[in-house]
Amino acid sequence: MFCGQQGPKNNIYHLSQFKFKGGKSTMNFLNTSHRYFIQYMLNHGTSTVENAIKFSAKVTGGSVNDANSLKTLVTQINGVISKQGFKMVFTTCEVTDQNLIIWLNTKNDHITQLQNVFTLAQLEYFHAILMEIINSVEYRITYPECLNITCSLKFPVTRDAGQEVFEEWIKGGYYVKQTNFVYLGPRLIQEFSAYLKTCCPSNVCILCQELVFFGKSCGSCRKMLHSYCLTKYFQTVRQCPGCQSNWIEDNRNTNHAGSDSDD
Ligand SMILES: [Zn+2]
Ligand SMILES: [Zn+2]
Repeated sequence: MFCGQQGPKNNIYHLSQFKFKGGKSTMNFLNTSHRYFIQYMLNHGTSTVENAIKFSAKVTGGSVNDANSLKTLVTQINGVISKQGFKMVFTTCEVTDQNLIIWLNTKNDHITQLQNVFTLAQLEYFHAILMEIINSVEYRITYPECLNITCSLKFPVTRDAGQEVFEEWIKGGYYVKQTNFVYLGPRLIQEFSAYLKTCCPSNVCILCQELVFFGKSCGSCRKMLHSYCLTKYFQTVRQCPGCQSNWIEDNRNTNHAGSDSDD
């Protein structure tokens, strides 16, 4: 019983994996600030917009100092890295409501894209947690449940090794831990969105067309939507955007009742 080859890598992606086809000439499109920011995102995987602004303010001598200038910087970088199957996107975490920037691999939308970074056992563990969450009633399982999964894998991982790599996935934005629960993270939802839309076709927020696993559900049609999308929508009309009935929240799932009021 062992976990296949040893995976000493801590980060999800590494600069070494990030090669420009055009070599130096392509790199020339990027200045030092761009490269520092790419390195920052490769190290973190996911960052709050606030921290990303703080970092880029430092490396650009203050010329990138707000959300707008950060967006410009990111657009410039995306213009180059998109050719290599990477991009950075701005998103909101549906669980924590934080505004985030995420480094994404867009090459192929499948779990196996991580096979260069993780061992087979780790990949199986990653996928097992993912399946356990999407098959649960409220799209969340407890932290101890996540660790217990290590015992039931075809390629068993020790609980300690499992916890270590699981913490890395949380740090990288693949999973979100809040109180004692674990949810699908914003990076997992973005990176595997085509895969998840196949597994969970009804989990698409009809306001933004993105996946939703933690939001508010309509008491009439039970359609789930992002809290932040609904808040914006309710500024116009307080009806369910799905069934058009006056909005009454479905409180049968405590998961959704716990979120902030939008009044
Ligand atoms: Zn939405
Ligand atoms: Zn409805």
